[in-house]
Amino acid sequence: MSAPPVCTNCGRERTADDFNYSPAQVILGRAIGWYSGDDGEICGQCMEKIIRGELLDGGDRK
Ligand SMILES: [Zn+2]
Repeated sequence: MSAPPVCTNCGRERTADDFNYSPAQVILGRAIGWYSGDDGEICGQCMEKIIRGELLDGGDRK
């Protein structure tokens, strides 16, 4: 097996507990999963901060 993906934002390694990100999670207000794309890997916690941070305070919390 290859090395697990690492969150480009916080450096956390992906575990078996990390489910995949889906836009439906945002729409439905559910827990946010792990994003994995051509532009990088972002863990659920970071995705949640990024998505909810931007929605709630205009993304000024950096
Ligand atoms: Zn992270």
